[in-house]
Amino acid sequence: MREAVGRCIRCTKEVYCSDGFLHGIVLDSSHILCFTCRENDELIHILNQLLEAEKAGVETLDYLLRIYPSTVYEERMKDIKKDEAWSCSGLIEAVRREGGTPSKKTGTFLEKVKAQPSFEDKISLLNKGQAWVARKINDALSFGMHEETRSFLLEMKQRHVKNIQAMSV
Ligand SMILES: [Zn+2]
Repeated sequence: MREAVGRCIRCTKEVYCSDGFLHGIVLDSSHILCFTCRENDELIHILNQLLEAEKAGVETLDYLLRIYPSTVYEERMKDIKKDEAWSCSGLIEAVRREGGTPSKKTGTFLEKVKAQPSFEDKISLLNKGQAWVARKINDALSFGMHEETRSFLLEMKQRHVKNIQAMSV
């Protein structure tokens, strides 16, 4: 016997149960993820890329605050660091909620920022990194996901856009 039990949260295709065997997994959020999406989950891949980037973001802001203390940007840099840390913990929750394993890796962004000659160049690269994050979030939003994950990503995008404006030198 084969019956449709619901739609895959990611690809929205019908998921079947045949002879008591579900062709997918049930997430903690009680949504169903089909085996095809489970095998190669592009959303989890993007969320983990973002997580690695945000961890590198915290490192980068730490570095900038250490190298350039007491500039007019100090408070703004502290705020951005808080947002990057907030994004990291939200992304870890999101990856778990969507049935994946959070990446333990950190992106290599800090090395690239260090290689920039001046403070202005470093900030300009930081802003490019923040813009990349906002674009990646748009990619992620094209997939089906838990409502909580979607509202988190929308807020994360907003904060990044705001932080680019705050650091426009
Ligand atoms: Zn699917």
